[in-house]
Amino acid sequence: MEKLILNGRLMDRENASIDIEDRGYQFGDGIYEVVRVYHGRLFTNELHLNRLFLSAEKLSLRIPYTAQELTAQLEKLVEANGVGTGIVYLQFTRGAAKRKHHFPEKSETTYVAYTSELDRPLEKMKKGVKAVLSEDIRWLRCDIKSLNLLGNVLAKQKAVENGCYEAIQHRGETVTEGSSSNVFIVKNDELATHPATNLILNGITRQVLLDICRKQGIPVREEAFTVDDLLGADEVFITSTTSEVMPIVQIDGKMVGDGAPGAVTRKLQHAFEREINGLSAQLASGTME
Ligand SMILES: *Cc1c(COP(=O)(O)O)cnc(C)c1O
Repeated sequence: MEKLILNGRLMDRENASIDIEDRGYQFGDGIYEVVRVYHGRLFTNELHLNRLFLSAEKLSLRIPYTAQELTAQLEKLVEANGVGTGIVYLQFTRGAAKRKHHFPEKSETTYVAYTSELDRPLEKMKKGVKAVLSEDIRWLRCDIKSLNLLGNVLAKQKAVENGCYEAIQHRGETVTEGSSSNVFIVKNDELATHPATNLILNGITRQVLLDICRKQGIPVREEAFTVDDLLGADEVFITSTTSEVMPIVQIDGKMVGDGAPGAVTRKLQHAFEREINGLSAQLASGTME
């Protein structure tokens, strides 16, 4: 029997229900996270929960648990469902109240978490995927991982309709991010990615990758770049919890570089894989060759 968590209680999925006047349902008034599970264990869970609490703060949304309590609950859920490679999805909404736009005087946060099995996209990571360009029509608080995803939904739909994996969004000339991923370019062995401002969601995978680059002495500029820079890049890749480090080999039908995943991208994929397998920590502590 598949389990989920509803308001802190582990229960059978089929017994869970949400009020039709939940503000998540009616206004998208809530936030979420997707955490990877590798080897049956939560990956970079602390970073995800930090971001969850940041998103909550920005929306004056109360999360009635500590990060430690949430972690213990999520670990229990992963174990109960026997997830090996997959994800945990968790969301918090402002709860159920009579439908009025402004915050209700009294409402209890609704909290749901569930798991899915999800393989790593190994084949795609090896060959690379295609992307389309899409004007970024989202609001100006993209730094909040909110349930309001219509701009992202429309962008991804455009990608799918064009036989592509992702839509790369741009505000005028400035490339911001994918519909559910961050975008990096490589030019002359130097990386660039949009800075973590209100115009993008600061991905955990993005942060892990920046950290890897710092440790390995790979130069990265957290600076906005243009659509022309993107199309003229040697390599392009996107990052996200589910896509990891995904090479983009075609944009709007035009080849990126020589049309195959580049050397820097592949190097970073390997470094990220070491993080997944916990090898970098072991290397650092000297327990491995
Ligand atoms: C979640 C998300 C990302 C990727 O973040 P990760 O923490 O790496 O999964 C990027 N952009 C948007 C809009 C997102 O919602």
